[in-house]
Amino acid sequence: MHYHADWMRGAESASGRDENDGYAGRSNSVNQGNRKALLEDGLIVAAHGRHYAVELSNAELLHCYPRGRRNVYACGDVVEIERSGDRQGTINSVHPRSSLLYRSDRHRQKIIAANVTLAVFVVAARPAFNEDLLMRCLIACEQQKITAVIVLNKTDLVEESARAATQLALYGELGYTLVPLSAKKDISPLEYVLRNHRSVVVGQSGMGKSTIVNALIPQAGARTAEISQALDSGKHTTTSAQLYHLDAESSIIDSPGLQTFGLMHLSQSELVESFREFKPFVGHCRFDDCRHTVEPGCAVIAAVGRNEIDPRRWNAYTSLAADLETKPPAWA
Ligand code: GDP
Ligand code: ZN
Repeated sequence: MHYHADWMRGAESASGRDENDGYAGRSNSVNQGNRKALLEDGLIVAAHGRHYAVELSNAELLHCYPRGRRNVYACGDVVEIERSGDRQGTINSVHPRSSLLYRSDRHRQKIIAANVTLAVFVVAARPAFNEDLLMRCLIACEQQKITAVIVLNKTDLVEESARAATQLALYGELGYTLVPLSAKKDISPLEYVLRNHRSVVVGQSGMGKSTIVNALIPQAGARTAEISQALDSGKHTTTSAQLYHLDAESSIIDSPGLQTFGLMHLSQSELVESFREFKPFVGHCRFDDCRHTVEPGCAVIAAVGRNEIDPRRWNAYTSLAADLETKPPAWA
């Protein structure tokens, strides 16, 4: 079965178009000199290097390349393509994105997914999860106004999971939805959360991301085969992101396992804004240009002292702020 009614959603909200204006699935003949090019809109459903699988409104998959060498797109992007042959095309342009989840190290940006409204960060008690990675992902989501939920997988490991849940309670207090579950036993607590969203599932490897995707999408294997065939890759490679339709209104993007989550693209002020619990205190410091790290009269530091801000979060903030200070000029 093919579902694609949700496929224009992200770009629609960015461009103010509505679903009934005939825009979704548009195909236009455009005169280009003496040649007629067939332009169509499609949804990127798999990204693998410079190879993209683009889904058209009739669910057909095309193998597409970007027109320019430096153009980079992501799963979830709505793009305008020009057919260049049977089941092949060139990506001309991308529609405005409503969100872009990405990370960046000192040298470059890595796009994870476009136009998502929800990010699902998967952790588990065993192997131990990396809380720094979680915090970094939450910051990236906050900055792009993507709702973040945290799945604590493997709750069948009862005692260890109880400890992990205690560690995660802080995020619940901050307003993030926590979804404890055992993907091996029952995925339904997550199904409810995903409804009517385009989501991306992220996490370090070993947490059970693949198990979750397979539990959510019984036909995941067939989808992967279909996409691999479109990309001529012969075999599926786990380094690519891939979009699955859940129903007519919901879809989920599986992304490669994360080891690091660089935030070099953020400015100092964006970093401060991404710590949602700092908000009541920022602006009440003695110095207008307070960085909330060592300054006397800092309202944020005072709140840490009163336990109104968790020291784990403030420590993470100060270490990220120090990183940003060493940012190379290319990012400035
Ligand atoms: P990924 O690297 O995040 O995609 O993780 P996988 O889905 O490959 O899972 C990593 C390991 O965790 C595998 O051995 C899974 O069998 C195991 N695993 C996944 N979900 C659960 C669960 O709910 N409970 C338990 N006990 N193990 C799980
Ligand atoms: Zn301050």
